[in-house]
Amino acid sequence: MTPPMTQMLELQNVSKRFVWRLDFASKLANLLGAGIKERAVHAVSHVDLGIREGEVVGLVGESGCGKSTLGRIVAGIMDASEGELKFRGKALAEMNEREWRDYKLAVQMIFQDPYASLNPRMRVEDIIGEAPVAHGIVSRSEMGGYVEHLMNQVGLDPRYRRRYPHQFSGGQRQRIGIARALAVKPRFIVCDEAVAALDVSIQAQVLNLFMDLREQLGLTYLFISHNLAVVEHISDRVVIMYLGRVVETAPTEALFAKPNHPYTQALLAEAPKLVARRRDYTPIAGEIPSPLDPPSGCHFHPRCPFAMARCKTEAPVLKQIAPDRMSACHLNDAAGAAAAAS
Ligand code: SF4
Repeated sequence: MTPPMTQMLELQNVSKRFVWRLDFASKLANLLGAGIKERAVHAVSHVDLGIREGEVVGLVGESGCGKSTLGRIVAGIMDASEGELKFRGKALAEMNEREWRDYKLAVQMIFQDPYASLNPRMRVEDIIGEAPVAHGIVSRSEMGGYVEHLMNQVGLDPRYRRRYPHQFSGGQRQRIGIARALAVKPRFIVCDEAVAALDVSIQAQVLNLFMDLREQLGLTYLFISHNLAVVEHISDRVVIMYLGRVVETAPTEALFAKPNHPYTQALLAEAPKLVARRRDYTPIAGEIPSPLDPPSGCHFHPRCPFAMARCKTEAPVLKQIAPDRMSACHLNDAAGAAAAAS
């Protein structure tokens, strides 16, 4: 399906820094002249990204690459340290109270562990019905019928509405989480490893539910996953992150057919071919560098088989390499120059 071109969400030069404050012992050591400094982790670094209305964007990268942090920024759960985020053309920083409230309802997040995100002391009907009543989407008297409709929509039997989360299976609990998110009529869903904790057969059912809801409700998704088969199956476009930076973005088919960035190539090469119907990536050669002290220049250079002298000093910029394809690698400059010279 060709996605429409209207941008729903735009990130411009978005960064997130976490500062490691000095503990008491370090402060004491500094009094004796130790010279210990506070350290900052750049979890997300200068990310530009647009997500179109109705699109499903898969966000991929190794653990600690900043993809969950980026998801939380998009969902309004975490503030960016720098940069601008626009929702339907309006900068979050310029929103009034009502616009901010509407944005927080329009963008919902679904997490990996549904059990941890559901209050164990609340009945399912209250978990699903509380927010829409609080926000005036339905009245209290309408809540019962509304919850019943939502439970049917996500494939749960409404007769179990008075049960508690522990009385459901993992897949059913994730469906409760999805119903709770849908209850406030969102337009955009951030799924952070939303099927990772489920059995493979249940994963397929929940993924199908996400796709059915996309068709029925016209939803847009940012789908964060370490499972390449899931991303390939569900996404229109894929974004690859490495140590806080976006290194490649491309339509799904093009990316899996011919990855451009050496990091993407390594991820796909390391992925077992649908072993046991999974296609997770395994760690690629070399250690993931510490985000506290990332390599200079291109962060990937210590692990890259094509690294040149320039890669150690100069960070490559994300550039267009084909229609709707971007990559951040100096090899594209060399290839472009060689092609121009020939
Ligand atoms: Fe490898 Fe250099 Fe490209 Fe980085 S910029 S991915 S080190 S070739």
